[in-house]
Amino acid sequence: MDDTKPDRKTKQVTTLPLHQLHNSSRPNLLKIALHRGANASTIIGPIPVRTRESKPEDAQDGLPVKTEPPAPSVIAQPVYKQFHLGMFEIGRALGKGKFGRVYLARERASGFICALKTLYKDEIQQGRMEKQVLREVEIQSNLRHPNILKLYNHFHDSKRIFFILEFAGQGELFKHLQREVRFSEWKAAQYIAQMVSALRYLHGKHVIHRDIKPENILVGIYGEIKLSDFGWSVHTPSNRRLTQCGTLDYLPPEMVDPTRLNKSYDEKVDLWSLGVLMYELLVGEAPFEDIPLMTQRRIAKADMTIPGFVSPEATDLIRKLLVVDPNKRMPLEQIQQHPWIIKHCSTGERAANREKSRSS
Ligand code: AMP
Repeated sequence: MDDTKPDRKTKQVTTLPLHQLHNSSRPNLLKIALHRGANASTIIGPIPVRTRESKPEDAQDGLPVKTEPPAPSVIAQPVYKQFHLGMFEIGRALGKGKFGRVYLARERASGFICALKTLYKDEIQQGRMEKQVLREVEIQSNLRHPNILKLYNHFHDSKRIFFILEFAGQGELFKHLQREVRFSEWKAAQYIAQMVSALRYLHGKHVIHRDIKPENILVGIYGEIKLSDFGWSVHTPSNRRLTQCGTLDYLPPEMVDPTRLNKSYDEKVDLWSLGVLMYELLVGEAPFEDIPLMTQRRIAKADMTIPGFVSPEATDLIRKLLVVDPNKRMPLEQIQQHPWIIKHCSTGERAANREKSRSS
């Protein structure tokens, strides 16, 4: 169990570890967590969870449609398939978040390996985070993309809410970055290209993530990234939002500049954060890292220095993303065509071989 969280992501420790409530006599079984052979159908397949937006015409597949009035919060929200904790074998703790821990788990019936995230209802209520949790469930459970962490389902008991999540075998991207200090341009480009793909999908569904940073990106068993933590994300029916949220280092000028706070912002906030992420992956620290007041001032002016070891192509792309005017940031489709991405990603195998021979 990793109890040493990096400062940047200070999180609350909970006092009721899930495994103490569980009677499995084989807690180490899941140390060998193999996806191969697991049958996911029990979790992923025919689980008819209808959201309260469901309409009768949605019932073409024969699934029941919920007709109750809207539930006040996720805590009170009913689900159709009655999952409960006893259906899972609980393995090692994978990490801890603000309102609970995340455990490796296996659904007993199918052998399906997943991550079970526990959230304590009273802590959610005390932290007035009900809306955020509800948003996470509503948004993340409707997303299907290889670079977005899947939320298969959720259930609750009297004290806790459980999220049944896709298991990201290689953990947090932030930990990889801390270990390697900074990534090679090839590796960073693979990650940025995958982020662009995930963001194109999200923005296509009118969802803004709003909290992109290495702590919110997990790494799958094949080294692929899995964007997670949709607590701050929003649907953008009007394409405009006014709320301020997120983490200072990654916030765009339109969200930190006090003179612009009454102005609205849109999905282009994610383009800025993508630029900050790219910088951090290549340099090892965020571009505006400073005392909070200075960070805020520097963000408002896009005041940063890109070290000389960053290639001209990467420097060019960072500068085209970290632009104060949101409308002048390079759009996602153009990032995919940028020479830095083409150089490292489009040549696929050739680039991978070049990278391998360099590191051997
Ligand atoms: P969170 O509460 O979502 O911030 O999760 C806390 C920590 O648990 C993360 O920082 C990860 O290290 C770990 N974790 C969360 N979800 C998963 C997952 N699906 N697969 C593997 N590790 C996870």
